[in-house]
Amino acid sequence: MVIPNNFLFTLIFLGIANWGTVIYFLFHLIKPKQKLTTINDKRFISNVKNKTGLDVVIKIMDIDQMIGFMISSPPFPAVMVFSRKLFDSFNRDEKEWVILHESSHYFMWHSLKFALSQFTLLIVGIFIINNFVVNEGIVLTLLIGLLLGLLYVQIAKIFEYEADNFAAKNMDDPKGMVTGNIKMRNDYNGFWQNKIFKNFFSIAVSYEDRIKMAEKQSGLKRK
Ligand SMILES: [Zn+2]
Repeated sequence: MVIPNNFLFTLIFLGIANWGTVIYFLFHLIKPKQKLTTINDKRFISNVKNKTGLDVVIKIMDIDQMIGFMISSPPFPAVMVFSRKLFDSFNRDEKEWVILHESSHYFMWHSLKFALSQFTLLIVGIFIINNFVVNEGIVLTLLIGLLLGLLYVQIAKIFEYEADNFAAKNMDDPKGMVTGNIKMRNDYNGFWQNKIFKNFFSIAVSYEDRIKMAEKQSGLKRK
C-alpha cells in the first residue's frame, strides 16, 4: 500500500503542531465520570473582569497534573478549567496569573489565530509537495512536515508570549507568576521538561522566560 505524500505530510505536520492537545484529550478529558465544579469566588472573578472585560467562568477538573486552559473562544462565553492540583496548590496571585493568561487567549482571539496559522502552513506544505516532490520522495515529505511543524510551534509561541506578557503586566503582584512557575517546574521533571525538546516542540513559554517577564514587571512596579 502506498501512502500518498500529501496525507503523510498532513499527518506529520498536524501531529507536531497539536501533539500536546491530542495527548491531553486522550488521557484526561475522555475519562468517564469526569465532573466539573464551578468556582464561585465573586470578588476574585470581578477583579479579573476589571482587567480583561470578561465574565470568565472557572471550573475545576480532577486531574493530577498542574494545568489550566481555556475551553472556549468567542463568540461563546469564556470558560476556563483549572486542574484540582493547580487550584489547590496555587495561592491567589498565582491563580491570577493563570486566569489572566488564559483570558488573554480568549480576548486576543488566539484559538482562531492558531487555527489560521496551521491552515496556512498546511496549504503551503501541500503546495510544495504537489509541485516539487516526486512520488517516492517520502524522506523529503517527512522533512517538510517536520520543518513546517517546527515553524508552527515558533509562531504559536508568539501568541503564548502575548498571553504571558498581558498577565505579567496586569497582575496585582507579578511575583505570583514567579512562584507559580517555580511550583510548576518543581512538580514534574520527566522527559517532556527537557529544555531543547520544549524549545522546539512545545508552544508554551519556558518557565525561565516567564519568570524573567514577571521579575521585570515587579521591578517596574516597585519604581
Ligand atoms: Zn497559553
